[in-house]
Amino acid sequence: MNEKEIVKWLREDDPDRLTELFRKADAVRRDHVGDAVHLRGLVELSNICRRNCLYCGVRAGHSTVERYRLTADEVMQGARLASEFGYGTLVMQAGEDFGLEGEFVADLIRRIKKEYALAVTLSLGERTEADWRLWREAGADRYLIRFETCNKDLFRVIHPPVGKDDLGFEGRIGALRVLRGLGYEIGSGVMIGIPGQTYADLARDLLMFRELDLDMIGNGPYLAHPETPLGRAAEVLAKNPGAPTDERRRLTAEVGFDYPVSDDPVPADNLTAFKVIALTRLLLPDSNIPSTTAIATNDRLHGRVTGLQSGANVVMPNLTPTRYRALYEIYPNKSATTESPEETHRTAIAQIIEAGRIPGTGPGGRIR
Ligand code: SF4
Repeated sequence: MNEKEIVKWLREDDPDRLTELFRKADAVRRDHVGDAVHLRGLVELSNICRRNCLYCGVRAGHSTVERYRLTADEVMQGARLASEFGYGTLVMQAGEDFGLEGEFVADLIRRIKKEYALAVTLSLGERTEADWRLWREAGADRYLIRFETCNKDLFRVIHPPVGKDDLGFEGRIGALRVLRGLGYEIGSGVMIGIPGQTYADLARDLLMFRELDLDMIGNGPYLAHPETPLGRAAEVLAKNPGAPTDERRRLTAEVGFDYPVSDDPVPADNLTAFKVIALTRLLLPDSNIPSTTAIATNDRLHGRVTGLQSGANVVMPNLTPTRYRALYEIYPNKSATTESPEETHRTAIAQIIEAGRIPGTGPGGRIR
C-alpha cells in the first residue's frame, strides 16, 4: 500500500468495504500471530513529568495535579499480580521523570526478572543512552516511545522542547533505532485526530511504522483534556463550529498559542482507530498491536473487543494501585480508573473471550 491507497482507506465510509477491510485484517492477524491475545500488565510508575506536551493532562504545567512516584514495593506488587494473573509481560510506564534514577529502575528490572517469568517493557520517555543500555543489561526486553505524528511542524508545536537535550522529531525516530541497536524490541505509535493532523499525515505515520519495522504499534484516538492548551482551544472551537480557518486561528490565538488547524482534519474517533489498526496489521502482519486504553475509553462496552476484531492482538490491563490510577490522567475519564486490579483482569479476560479469542501465555514477543 502506498500513501494514496492508505488515505483512500482512511476516508472510506462504505460499510461493506469497511467490513471487508476488517475481515481481511483479522484473517492476516490469525495467520501471522494466531488467536492468542497477549496480556501486558501496566504499572504507571510516576506521573511526574518534565515535559509540557500540549495534549497531556500530566504535563509539568498542570499545577493542580497531585504527583506521585511508586515505591519499589508498590511496583513489585504489580509484578506479582501480573504473574499471578498469568500475564507474560509487565509494562513500566511513567512521565519523563528523571527522579526515577537509572539504578532504581535497573534494580526493579533485576528483581522482576529474578522473581517472576515476565518480559519487561519500559515506557519512560527520552532518557540517556547510558540509561537505556543499563536497563537493557539489567534484563529489559522492550521499549516504547511514541512519536505521535510524523508531521514535523505539528510535532514541534505539540511537543515544546524542554532543553538542550531534547531530541525533537528526528531524534525521537533516531532513538527508536538506537534502542533496537541495544537489543530491545521497539514500539511506537501516534494519536489519531490530533488537531492539525491531515489524512496524508496519518497515512505517512503508517508508512513510518513499516519503515521502522516496529515490533509493537499502539495508536489511539486523541481525547481532549480540558486542562491542557489543546483541550481549552478545542472548547473555543466547539462554540464556533463552521468558523473559517482564519477565524479559527484568531479564536484559538486568544487561548494563548497558535493552535494547529487542519483543513483536512482526521476524526478523533474509534472508527478511524479501527481502520488504523486494520491497515497497520496489513502493513506489518507479525507485529504486536494493542487494542488500546484510549479506544476502550471512547467506548467502554465494545471498544476493546472491536479493536481485537479489527487486527489487534494485545491488551494492557492496568495494574497500577487503584489509589494512584486517577492521577495518571493523560486524558480524562480513562477507563478502569476506579477498579481493583482483579476487576480489571476479569474484564480483560471477558473481553478476550467475547472477541472469540484466547488469553495468550508466555512473553508474547514478536515472532517473525
Ligand atoms: S505525553 Fe508523556 S512526555 Fe508528554 S507531558 Fe504527558 S507524560 Fe509527559
